[in-house]
Amino acid sequence: RIAYVNGRYVPHGQASVHIEDRGFQFADGVYEVVTIVAGRLADEQGHLTRLARSLKELSIPWPVKPRTLRMIITEMVRRNRAVNAQLYIQITRGAAPRDFRFPVNPAPTLVITCRRTAFQPPALLDKGIAVVTMPDIRWQRRDIKSVSLLPQVMGKQKAHEAGAFEGWMVDDEGQVTEGCSSNAWIVTADGVLVTRQPSNAILNGITRLSILEVAREQGIGFQERPFTVAEALAAREAFISSATTFALPVTRIDGQMIGDGRPGPLGRRLRRAYMDHLGVADPL
Ligand code: PLP
Repeated sequence: RIAYVNGRYVPHGQASVHIEDRGFQFADGVYEVVTIVAGRLADEQGHLTRLARSLKELSIPWPVKPRTLRMIITEMVRRNRAVNAQLYIQITRGAAPRDFRFPVNPAPTLVITCRRTAFQPPALLDKGIAVVTMPDIRWQRRDIKSVSLLPQVMGKQKAHEAGAFEGWMVDDEGQVTEGCSSNAWIVTADGVLVTRQPSNAILNGITRLSILEVAREQGIGFQERPFTVAEALAAREAFISSATTFALPVTRIDGQMIGDGRPGPLGRRLRRAYMDHLGVADPL
C-alpha cells in the first residue's frame, strides 16, 4: 500500500505529517472520499468540485494545481492497483507553530491514502439497515466537508452500540438533517421521494446530487425539503446515500419497522440507476 504525502509516494506504514500540522492541532482541514469501483473513480469531478469549494470557504490554498491533483490521484490508483477501493484525500492548512490565526504563507498539507474495500455484504441490500436518531450537535457550516468530525464519531459509536448502521441527526425543529456520514432519503406515505435541500445545515452529498440527476433523467419526481422523524417513521421507504455505500435501504428507524420492513422498490431502482450512471455493475 502506497500513500501520498506532500509530493512523495511512501509506503503506507511510513507515511506521516508534522505534529504541528493544523489538521492535527485544530482540525483545520478538509477531505473527500472517492470510491473506486472496478478501477474507476466514482463521481470524481463532483468530489473535486466540492473539495475546491470547501477549500475556498476556509481560505485554504490549493497545495497543488487541481490538474496536478488529478494526476496524483491517477498515479495513486495505479500504484495501489486499486480495483475496488476508497481513495481518501485530505488537505489541511499545513504545519505551523501553534497559533489560532492563519499562518503567513501557509504550506498546505496534502495526504492521499488508498484502501481496498470489500463492499458491504449483499445481506445489507436484502435486509436493509437500521438507523437511530439523535440530536444534531454540529456547527452551522455543515456544508463544508471539514475533518472536524467529533459529533459524527460520537454519533456513529452510539448507533453502533444500538445495533444500528447509521445515525440520523435531527435539528432543533425535529427535522432530520442527514446521516453521520450519509444523506437521508424517504419515500413518503404518499409515495413522494424526499431529501433535504442543500444549505449550511447539511453536506451536499455528491452521491445525493447524482441520484437526483438520475431521478430527473428517469422522470421520477422528488421534493427537496426537510422531513421530520415522525414523517420518516410513517414513510413507505427510506434509504441513505454516500460515496461508500452508494444507496442503502433503511428498514428500521429507532427500532420501528419502515413500510413492510423490507427494502422498497424506489430505493432499489435508484441504486440500480446510480450504478448505471457510474457505468459499473453493482459490486454487491
Ligand atoms: N453527509 C455527511 C455528513 C457525510 O459525511 C457524507 C459523506 O461522508 C455524506 C453526507 C455523503 O456525501 P457523499 O455522497 O459525497 O459521500
